[in-house]
Amino acid sequence: METEIAQARRIPPKSRTRICCPHCGNDTDFFEIADGVVLTTRYLQNSDGSFIQESDESQVLGEIKFFCGECNQDLSEYHNHFLEMLF
Ligand SMILES: [Zn+2]
Repeated sequence: METEIAQARRIPPKSRTRICCPHCGNDTDFFEIADGVVLTTRYLQNSDGSFIQESDESQVLGEIKFFCGECNQDLSEYHNHFLEMLF
């Protein structure tokens, strides 16, 4: 019985709530900063020697931080919530 309660407490029912900056109250404008991003761009060489871009791939090696777009407060604690609600 006790373990069930602990389990429920670990996952707060906040997945339907909007993220709101606790510092300035902003709830619309946010940005993300990624550290250590590797951008890989693939090209195909044509028979005449020219190149066309085939695809862009980016890989984030470092940490991704999430910020309030109004006051730049670090809201990384909300980042998982943000990813869940990103479409
Ligand atoms: Zn803010």
